[in-house]
Amino acid sequence: MQTTVESGWQGEWRRGQPRQRPRTVHQRAARHQCSSCGKISARKLPHCPTCRSVCYCNSECQRAHYYKGHKEDCETFLNPPLDVTFVTEPIEGEKYARDPVFAQHHQDGFGCWVSIKTSPHCELQFMANPTRANKDAECRLPGDLGVTMENLDNCQAHASNLLTLQVLVQNRRKDKKLVLVLGGQSHVVSFGKSTEDVLQGKTIIDGVTTFQMERQSFASVPVAYDPFDKKPRLFVKNLDGVELKEGGRLPPAVKDAEKGILALRPGQYAILQMQYRVGDGGSMRKDWDALRLLQTFTLPVVVPWGEDRSPSAFEADYAREHRKSGSAPLGMRVTFDQDAVQEFFKDGIKGGDEAHIRSHYGEKGAKKYDRQMEVAKQKSLDIMKEFRRRGGTLEEALAFQLGAGMTDEALLTLLHWEED
Ligand SMILES: [Zn+2]
Ligand SMILES: [Zn+2]
Repeated sequence: MQTTVESGWQGEWRRGQPRQRPRTVHQRAARHQCSSCGKISARKLPHCPTCRSVCYCNSECQRAHYYKGHKEDCETFLNPPLDVTFVTEPIEGEKYARDPVFAQHHQDGFGCWVSIKTSPHCELQFMANPTRANKDAECRLPGDLGVTMENLDNCQAHASNLLTLQVLVQNRRKDKKLVLVLGGQSHVVSFGKSTEDVLQGKTIIDGVTTFQMERQSFASVPVAYDPFDKKPRLFVKNLDGVELKEGGRLPPAVKDAEKGILALRPGQYAILQMQYRVGDGGSMRKDWDALRLLQTFTLPVVVPWGEDRSPSAFEADYAREHRKSGSAPLGMRVTFDQDAVQEFFKDGIKGGDEAHIRSHYGEKGAKKYDRQMEVAKQKSLDIMKEFRRRGGTLEEALAFQLGAGMTDEALLTLLHWEED
């Protein structure tokens, strides 16, 4: 079992993702402004230990606020904990939240908020592929050319059809009991009517199962699973607001960073990022295309966890049950709010990428997006050249890129390919 965060892999991920967002005046205020009396303090204020979504000057303010209504908000998980990397309301001057909540649920004193890792390049993302340990075995180019993808940024490929979910989980139990989270076993379930679309581009190795309910067929898709090396494509981003450091010692709450297994004490929260391939890159290429097909996010949890059985035993049971029945045996089903999805993406749905990027990220974001497209095209060109240099055909190069999800870039490069 993994006991430390694999060195390099978080950095690998970050290289392909937008940098940590700068703290804004608004977010600073949120941590320094008393939720009860409104006074702004120079120091960071203590927060409600149960939810961490509010903070106070002192215990008088805390008491007053509690009876003014926070008691209920705290119990109904109205707001996620204050965290500069999970900002669910638009910050000053912006139209949209940085981390919009598309699904939210709580039960038995445990809550879950699902957002996505939005970025200007909504359809074009690096595939965070933690295949570093066995990249030679897993990422061999087709056609027996005897080269590995090592020269292509250590197996990191662009993909135009990946969705990155950002999931915040928190224990707010009052009985001091732990909650066990099996993040790497998370699934999404499609709407019955969209199952065909969800299945496009999926193969047996993707671990997708289908099942029937009320004469409709549903698909259950693992969301933190890498079909290349059958490992979770997942990353524990932070615990209680502290970012997990590369190669650093793991906090006791993180039982297995690679599999996303967490044991959270009351008050503790964690943010997980998980990434999966949606569709074939043809019919489904945008975040919103993928999100609109989703009915629920299923997160396996044990609430409460009495430490009676080991996390890995629970995980093994879960995987076996899921394979057998096709549906999730334990945990939380978090329903996607399709109105929220529609509202957040309406500019893009109507006007395409450009409109989406402009309304969410402004001119600066649009420029960044263009630059990233250039990098992607260059990478595709490099792959084509490498195949030709080793005597491979353009068809092989194309097949390889399609396999890596580089649909747009590969086709563009092929179109403009000129043999030397
Ligand atoms: Zn106060
Ligand atoms: Zn609270």
